[in-house]
Amino acid sequence: MSELKFKCPDCGNAGLECRETGCYVSSVTDIDADGDFSFGAINASGEVDNYGCTRCNFTIMDEGGEVATNQEDVAQWCVDNCEQE
Ligand SMILES: [Zn+2]
Repeated sequence: MSELKFKCPDCGNAGLECRETGCYVSSVTDIDADGDFSFGAINASGEVDNYGCTRCNFTIMDEGGEVATNQEDVAQWCVDNCEQE
């Protein structure tokens, strides 16, 4: 399988981000007397809100104007809308 490339149609940026609703929860696993805390793995418990450009506000939508919220949709969008090598 080849890797797909994302390219923002608005600003040309190649960075894609997953935007989630809800909060990120992380547990404190160690408390150092100096105030140094260790944290457990960050638990992203939110639902995926949308996928979009890391630089501008571009959000991936399908032809019907529906916001893409799953990875298959995003992959398909990249195939359809971004130049692939
Ligand atoms: Zn952009």
